[in-house]
Amino acid sequence: MKREDCIFCKIAGGEIPSKTLYEDENFRVILDLSPATRGHALILPKEHAEDLHELSDETAAEVLVLAKKIAAVMVKRLHCDGLNLVQNNGEAAGQTVKHFHVHVIPRYKGDGQNINWVPGSPSQEELESIREAIVE
Ligand code: 5GP
Ligand code: ZN
Repeated sequence: MKREDCIFCKIAGGEIPSKTLYEDENFRVILDLSPATRGHALILPKEHAEDLHELSDETAAEVLVLAKKIAAVMVKRLHCDGLNLVQNNGEAAGQTVKHFHVHVIPRYKGDGQNINWVPGSPSQEELESIREAIVE
């Protein structure tokens, strides 16, 4: 279902114009208005889901297949040297638009972007305690 107050519902549904790269029954792929790199695209499901937790299993399964296709086009047409797929959930993770989306970010040698984290150095005991918290 579309949400009246959701900008990505409006963009995905075509009510608000966008630089569309691809569209089918379930998805629209657009250029990000504030791109990290040349060709930075967003995959928007047409059905509203706030984040990964709300996404239907069907859409979840389809979205990575579509990301793979878009990635191949970026390599072919933009000759990027690499790609990041980024998908933010929740404010703590940097999500600013509360409609599930996947960033497809073409990367170019020396592009100056830094989609990264500071690596931690937990002990084996800490890793074990985290593992237990997750699976036991
Ligand atoms: P998030 O931080 O939620 O993962 O990413 C939201 C992304 O949407 C940002 O990269 C931002 O530049 C992009 N964005 C926000 N509003 C619009 C818009 O109206 N049109 C387009 N094309 N991109 C948008
Ligand atoms: Zn929406």
